[in-house]
Amino acid sequence: MIIRYQLSQLPSVDECLKSSCGQKWLDLFPRKIVLRAVREVIDSKRKEILNGAVSDVSIEALSHDMEQTIKKYFAYKLRPLINATGVVIHTNLGRSILSDRAVEHVTTTALSYSNLEYEITTGKRGKRYSHIQEIIRELTGAEDAVVVNNNAAAVLICLDTFAKGREVIVSRGELVEIGGSFRIPEVMKASGAVLREIGTTNKAHLADYENALCGNTALLLKVHQSNYRMIGFTEEVPIEKLVKIGKEYKIPVVADLGSGCMIDLKKYGVPGEPTVQEVVKTGADVVTFSGDKLLGGPQAGIIIGKEKFIQKVQKNPLLRAMRIDKMTLASLEATFMQYLDEEKALKEIPTLRMLTESADVIKKRARKIILSMKKDVSRHAELEVRADESQAGGGSLPEINFPTFVVSVKPLSISVNELEKRLRLSAPPVIARIKDDALLLDARTVQDGEIRDLVGCIIKAFQIKKLLSNKISPPLTGGD
Ligand SMILES: *Cc1c(COP(=O)(O)O)cnc(C)c1O
Repeated sequence: MIIRYQLSQLPSVDECLKSSCGQKWLDLFPRKIVLRAVREVIDSKRKEILNGAVSDVSIEALSHDMEQTIKKYFAYKLRPLINATGVVIHTNLGRSILSDRAVEHVTTTALSYSNLEYEITTGKRGKRYSHIQEIIRELTGAEDAVVVNNNAAAVLICLDTFAKGREVIVSRGELVEIGGSFRIPEVMKASGAVLREIGTTNKAHLADYENALCGNTALLLKVHQSNYRMIGFTEEVPIEKLVKIGKEYKIPVVADLGSGCMIDLKKYGVPGEPTVQEVVKTGADVVTFSGDKLLGGPQAGIIIGKEKFIQKVQKNPLLRAMRIDKMTLASLEATFMQYLDEEKALKEIPTLRMLTESADVIKKRARKIILSMKKDVSRHAELEVRADESQAGGGSLPEINFPTFVVSVKPLSISVNELEKRLRLSAPPVIARIKDDALLLDARTVQDGEIRDLVGCIIKAFQIKKLLSNKISPPLTGGD
């Protein structure tokens, strides 16, 4: 009897849409989404009633679930999150975040027409690459430049341009794989160039390169070891020496730098990375690097070098398939412009700022995070600021540990894995790492503007149990 009564009390879709909540939703969200959500909630309530669960089925009682469902369906799938991993160039989390200036230039360029391929002075058709050639030349010392979608494309188009059907000499120690899909031997195959491996895993000598030269040699390729380092009994041939034999035998030398660091980070306590400018100075004919690794800009592949070679790349029809869009071009231009003032670049380009930030500043941020949540969280977890180490990530500076400070959260009532999961599923998601039964929030990669949200998510994570035990959902207040 009760079941039949309750079913009869269930509101219809139409009644829900006509209610004040329904009218509000229809104003704010697409009708399709509202309909789907309303139907879904009514259906699930019907099932609950049939299963014997007794609950309030008035529109007021259902509207909270309905609104949450609408919001779930109308949310972006790609969304911001808080990176508390300490990995600055985190490939899974979008690598570099852009500077304000870069975002500003993207926004204005995207919102209006532009001279993307138009020469204002002559009124004639222009080239999209022209906008950043000058600034790249000035900053790197290279004769010419062209840009593509990413560094993988940069390497591919270079191989296609200079070595299709011919041999490319690479040391076995440099046949790297970068994050799964980019492997030098496979890129080589895809380009139609023939890989000529020389040396051994740990050692390559100049003579190995010279012995491999033949009439069919098109290129000497030097690949940055990126995400790994060789230690012990090792030897590699520096680019300078490759350039020398390249000159002698008239074979071009291409250097794939991977990250492509524009500022000498040694001065800031980060050793081991040659700068783009240094590599250009060696006389390498072509140098390629990423836009979103140490450069701290958008995803892009930068190809610089001698004019003769860059012009050849520009004439390759493949360039059209790899061409960079106007928004990327705008953010790349703005990012490069910031390098004109090195000190400002270090402060304003987030990737550089995070990598060179002093441990003191990071410690202060970690303290601030703890202070803002102590009152609510200390009953649920042991909190402390601890020294730890962060990583550059993105295949950059793999052997360097950056001294950092983390907020260690050791939950008392739930497992650390449960806490990690709750934070990951929170809004915004918080990504952190677990070490020795504690969740570590690395203050290096948490942005100052994110602290409030971060703290809110942690407080909520410890209250989830309380919310779940509330049988009757709270009325519509906007939810999260
Ligand atoms: C990262 C990297 C690439 C690929 O660059 P993307 O911009 O990710 O396409 C190629 N070569 C090396 C050495 C790298 O480190």
